Amino acid sequence: MTPKARKQFGQHWLRSEKALNQIIAAAKLQEGDRILEIGPGTGILTRQLLPLVQSVVAVEIDRDLCELLAKKLGQRENFLLLQGDFLEMDLNAQLAHFPTFQKPNKVVANIPYNITGPILEKLLGTISQPNPKPFDSIVLLVQKEVAERLYAQSGSKAFGALSVRVQYLAEVEFICNVPAKAFSPPPKVDSMVVRLRPRDTDPPAHDIKYLETLIKLGFSSKRKMLRNNLRSVIDRDRLTDLLEELEVNPQVRAEDLSVAKWVELSNLLRNDARR
Ligand code: SAH
Repeated sequence: MTPKARKQFGQHWLRSEKALNQIIAAAKLQEGDRILEIGPGTGILTRQLLPLVQSVVAVEIDRDLCELLAKKLGQRENFLLLQGDFLEMDLNAQLAHFPTFQKPNKVVANIPYNITGPILEKLLGTISQPNPKPFDSIVLLVQKEVAERLYAQSGSKAFGALSVRVQYLAEVEFICNVPAKAFSPPPKVDSMVVRLRPRDTDPPAHDIKYLETLIKLGFSSKRKMLRNNLRSVIDRDRLTDLLEELEVNPQVRAEDLSVAKWVELSNLLRNDARR
């Protein structure tokens, strides 16, 4: 029997075979893969993962579910269930107690939507403090509107500070749509599967703290032109010159600048400030 879903933990049980298969396919699993799953819930995804990979480490906050999962899946050499809040957990310290489990190289998860941002930050790090040993890939089921922001291209409406921050650290791909009715109980929103692949940034930012500040300021008022939002850090005429140098229309808004242009602009501005 499926346990009653708890709202406070963002519980919605996936029940669509099709969505499960799409998630598994997107992870391109190999025998040697070590998977991290956040929020295994009733174990519907976990069960599919286990026979395909070297190991699965799952972090689940709900004590009752952990008991149920342990019973359901039984003792297996390649499954480690950690009870706790993923956001608070020092995963490496936990894993140190279980020497047969190596550090996971991939993440596959249907996560609680209310903490998507913090989960992404924990997995990828931030622009100024990227995760030094990133995962090979991260396949997540998330709310549709958030997914759209994650993979949005500059110039589109969904492109915002989150898009720049995440795309600076990872390539993001849309995988598929998952309708609300694929879950029980159905959430109020539709969902999408996305795949993130952490990567080195090209071009690299010379001063990542500065880039972070610039993005924050640049997107602070979305309707305004960039040169107005950045007025406090750079003279408007100077910014116009720099944007022309970058072959960007000086009238742009924050959402029109690609990630690469954001980095180039921050590098140019930093040089200016140093002069
Ligand atoms: N993966 C399951 C359940 C998804 S619902 C499925 O596809 O059916 C989200 C799951 O994340 C729930 O099991 C919930 O208890 C768990 N969860 C919520 N907050 C968490 C946190 N901070 N850390 C770990 N797990 C969490």
